[in-house]
Amino acid sequence: MNAPPASAPVDPVRLDKLAQVAVHVGLQLQKGQDLVMTAPIAALPLARLITKHAYMAGAGLVSTFYADEEATLARYRHAPDESFDRATDWLYEGMAKAYANGAARLAIAGDNPMLLSGEDPAKVARANKANSKAYKPALEKIANFDINWNIVSYPNPSWAKQVFPNDAEDVAVEKLANAIFAASRVDCDDPVGAWQAHNAGLHRRSAWLNGQRFAALHFKGPGTDLTVGLADGHEWHGGASVAKNGVTCNPNIPTEEVFTTPHALRVEGHVASTKPLSHLGTLIDDIRVRFEGGRIVEAHASRGEAVLNKVLDTDEGARRLGEVALVPHSSPISASGLLFYNTLFDENAACHIALGQCYSKCFLDGASLTPEQIKAQGGNSSLIHIDWMIGSGQIDIDGVAADGGRVPVMRAGEWA
Ligand code: ZN
Ligand code: ZN
Repeated sequence: MNAPPASAPVDPVRLDKLAQVAVHVGLQLQKGQDLVMTAPIAALPLARLITKHAYMAGAGLVSTFYADEEATLARYRHAPDESFDRATDWLYEGMAKAYANGAARLAIAGDNPMLLSGEDPAKVARANKANSKAYKPALEKIANFDINWNIVSYPNPSWAKQVFPNDAEDVAVEKLANAIFAASRVDCDDPVGAWQAHNAGLHRRSAWLNGQRFAALHFKGPGTDLTVGLADGHEWHGGASVAKNGVTCNPNIPTEEVFTTPHALRVEGHVASTKPLSHLGTLIDDIRVRFEGGRIVEAHASRGEAVLNKVLDTDEGARRLGEVALVPHSSPISASGLLFYNTLFDENAACHIALGQCYSKCFLDGASLTPEQIKAQGGNSSLIHIDWMIGSGQIDIDGVAADGGRVPVMRAGEWA
């Protein structure tokens, strides 16, 4: 077996800073805490640096699971048909057990967003459904914020070629590395200090929105006239927050959003996507959907419509919203002008909504609510959580109070 390709175009100094940000800002890994990490095999240099910094921070045991794109493709090309209804439930059960025992979770993103674009969409959907089902016990611990968790990205060559198709591979990797470093705020002498300042700004925005207690948000722009009712007792979050295990962490690196829980039954109108959605190797573009009573009753896309409709048929909650998030059009990621084909970046370039599962932490006293109470307050549940972008420099957003009064929240994509 060959070693993964050498990654000379990735600056080792800033890569080391990214590893430090992942461990000390993203996770705030605690002394003695175990860490479960997943990574594409191309991200080996970053996974090793994170492992080093994790142990230097006092980690108990770091366990990393690598994914290999060639191995994934081999399954789609050669595995028997029954394989696509199966998943590694034993592995996910083990992960859920590790989290229940206090382990933190870190994912290195950077997979080729188009890996499965040439494969049978029915197999992709079946494999994904089986995977989502098997992963649920582990995902719930993450979605419910039981533990500190973090996602950072590595400039995988296959991803870099997608973002910079006209460049040679090493140039594309270097450009993507630079974009990741800038967005992850490791371009400065004191990345940890830069993150503290950024977190303070996001906390100010969410505090203002929490003070307003809007009943709904109204989005208006090209192809969009959408009222998103907010869940009863919703709470806005952004930046670092405290997991149920008491650790303050920054789950997403980068992050520019403030977000909360919509009411699963109170979304009305139509909305158009403003960036393509890269989902399981398929690009879904120009999404146009119509909501009635919180449910998507009509869905179109100029590309990937079949995949979109399969996603919506995952379960009842897949047609309803679990998140609404506000991001100014001038965010550094948006200002880069790049389409990353990666939700972690693209969702932080624009206001977005997510189909599917809500975050229980986006409720007042969310940690003490039962699933039944969350549902009664309008929280959605589903096997999926898929963010897609609806913001742009042409979107206006009003906050709508319970008495119908309106307050400008964003004008032409910027905070009003
Ligand atoms: Zn979001
Ligand atoms: Zn989301």
